[in-house]
Amino acid sequence: MFLFNKYKEYYSCEHLEHGICFDMQGIYHCCPYMNANSNIAPISSYSGNVDKDYKDFFKKKLQDVKNAKKSKLRETCKKCFQLKKMLNSDNKEIRTINIFANKTCNADCIYCSSHIDREYFNSMQDRPVFAYIEKLIKENRICKNCNILFAGGEPTLHFEFEKTLTLLLNYGAFIRVNTSAIKYSQAIETAIRNGNSCIVVSLDSGNPELYKAIKNVDKFYNVVENLKKYCSVINTVNSVILKYVVIPEVNDEDKYVLEFLQVARDVGCKKVCFDLDYNWYVKNRDNENLVSSYNSKIMGYKDKIKDFGLLCP
Ligand code: SF4
Ligand code: SF4
Repeated sequence: MFLFNKYKEYYSCEHLEHGICFDMQGIYHCCPYMNANSNIAPISSYSGNVDKDYKDFFKKKLQDVKNAKKSKLRETCKKCFQLKKMLNSDNKEIRTINIFANKTCNADCIYCSSHIDREYFNSMQDRPVFAYIEKLIKENRICKNCNILFAGGEPTLHFEFEKTLTLLLNYGAFIRVNTSAIKYSQAIETAIRNGNSCIVVSLDSGNPELYKAIKNVDKFYNVVENLKKYCSVINTVNSVILKYVVIPEVNDEDKYVLEFLQVARDVGCKKVCFDLDYNWYVKNRDNENLVSSYNSKIMGYKDKIKDFGLLCP
């Protein structure tokens, strides 16, 4: 009987069992925008008392895992596509940390969910993360291969960014930072030099006019200069990834893509990636022919990427 219970299968997900996400509304198991199929409430709030929130979060996580084993998932988890069959385990380590604890940004991209009211999002106060991460490390909860993502807003503007990233780097975790690269970060430079971290920068253009039309700020040359500095210390091809969000009728002409690849090569970047603007996709997803023509266009960039001596995922 004991053995049967120990290895019994049940429905749960990696985030529920091993994830923590610091978002604006509170602390979650998973990223509340990407993984759930409805608006989900945080597991714990930021009460100002780190010990209390931390204890509360892990008490509820333990309870949620126990409930999952009895097929009693939270309502918001019930139809989630992340659910899969899992085997009973006592492993309580954290394997994914998402840090989305600020909404402030030094750009205002036309495709960003915050573009609807950048002033309001820039006025939102950052949420604290450092003390929670410190506690996770002290209690030896973070597994060595933990996937850690800083996003936002612009993470380098978070009031605790430099020291939180440095703390995690010293711990030896793999860290990804989605940054505009408008602000230079010493901690990012160290992370890139260490070789176990990467930054993803959405440049979306290869000239200052197009950059400004998409980002609403005149910072193309700042970004290029910062990218050169970051790329000068890379020791793996994955350390700096330049991204191009294809926005139909804005930056989808081949000449813009070629300009972007030229800049990527000139700054010393080794890898680029392309994506279709998500908002455009949502509006046009029923027009399968149109969506597939853009997907084919993006696939067609592969040869051009090679011609510039660059890699793509
Ligand atoms: S099942 Fe879905 S909503 Fe629930 S914790 Fe996992 S990813 Fe989040
Ligand atoms: S850089 Fe990122 S967070 Fe800032 S406006 Fe652009 S998409 Fe939004």
